[in-house]
Amino acid sequence: MRGLAKLKAAPGIWMTEAPLPELGHNDLLIKIRKTAICGTDLHIYKWDEWSQNTIPVPMIVGHEYVGEVVAMGQEVRGFSEGDRVSGEGHITCGHCRNCRAGRRHLCRNTVGVGVNRQGAFADYLVIPAYNAFKIPTGISDELASIFDPFGNAVHTALSFDLVGEDVLITGAGPIGIMAVAIARHCGARHVVITDVNDYRLNLAAQMGASRVVNVAKESLSDVMVELGMTEGFDVGMEMSGVPSAFSAMLDKMNHGGKIALLGIPPSDMAIDWNQVIFKGLEIKGIYGREMFETWYKMASLLQSGLNISPVITHRFDINDFQLGFDAMVSGQCGKVILDWSD
Ligand code: NAD
Ligand code: ZN
Repeated sequence: MRGLAKLKAAPGIWMTEAPLPELGHNDLLIKIRKTAICGTDLHIYKWDEWSQNTIPVPMIVGHEYVGEVVAMGQEVRGFSEGDRVSGEGHITCGHCRNCRAGRRHLCRNTVGVGVNRQGAFADYLVIPAYNAFKIPTGISDELASIFDPFGNAVHTALSFDLVGEDVLITGAGPIGIMAVAIARHCGARHVVITDVNDYRLNLAAQMGASRVVNVAKESLSDVMVELGMTEGFDVGMEMSGVPSAFSAMLDKMNHGGKIALLGIPPSDMAIDWNQVIFKGLEIKGIYGREMFETWYKMASLLQSGLNISPVITHRFDINDFQLGFDAMVSGQCGKVILDWSD
């Protein structure tokens, strides 16, 4: 089969021939139809310090996908050949305290598809059937292929009550852009999003942001005055990983505000703890998606009319994968989809 792999410890990604992955008793064999490129894949492509310390080479990467079940291990129940599935990319141990309590997203032994074991940028992928999620008819292949990052946005956005609240999202990457649409759909009042990239802020505007703010050109304080906000934001979602964005958020939160932190800072990050203490802020770290509450919520949100389609900006045949990575490197993109069908 074809596989898009990190073949050597250097920047880049290469198409290679690989054997079919082995199917265990509890596994599904999935024929991949579409994949999407994640920011993590871009880190691996660029071969930054994190990748050098994390990614074994050679390895097929990728973890955002949709495909069809073509074979099942003998112990698998609840799936049939022909089922259209995406899958949770965090493979959990099943025996730690959190796993046994049903809090799989808090498993301390998580292994990542396309990070620690073979990924989805291939004609075929094997995952434990437990990790697969059946996609309801009516949800397109394209949208199904981005359930992983959509799930990051849903998990973060649904962490706190948004009804009638003023929401600040820092970072208009694909996940921040989707979070705008979710907050709007769930009944937030003002949804304000910041970035330094106008292309992405335009996408966020299409997703229903009350106001998009390029913090390199405009002040968030002025925008709050313009919107008639006299106190501060009720809910914050940090989705940039940029320390100055988080500091700005802390500064603009109302007392008693709630913050969900998804963005991953590059290293240790100093903040003004007085903002947290004297404002009585609540801060929650977000990792991955809740298994599988977030997945059911994603399907239901789409079925109840949530539209996240504008986040998909680029589509390429898998033979043109380099163009996809070029688009990601440029930053002038939302989600980039690669099509594996022949
Ligand atoms: P991304 O890197 O595409 O988006 C980050 C955005 O932040 C970019 O558009 C960038 O221009 C913007 N930005 C830069 N400086 C800024 C500033 N000063 N103020 C506001 N925005 C600024 O990332 P993504 O794929 O959308 O993911 C969002 C974040 O979440 C990343 O940090 C990513 O590493 C992280 N992430 C975390 C998890 C998790 O499980 N915790 C999962 C996926 C991604
Ligand atoms: Zn576990």
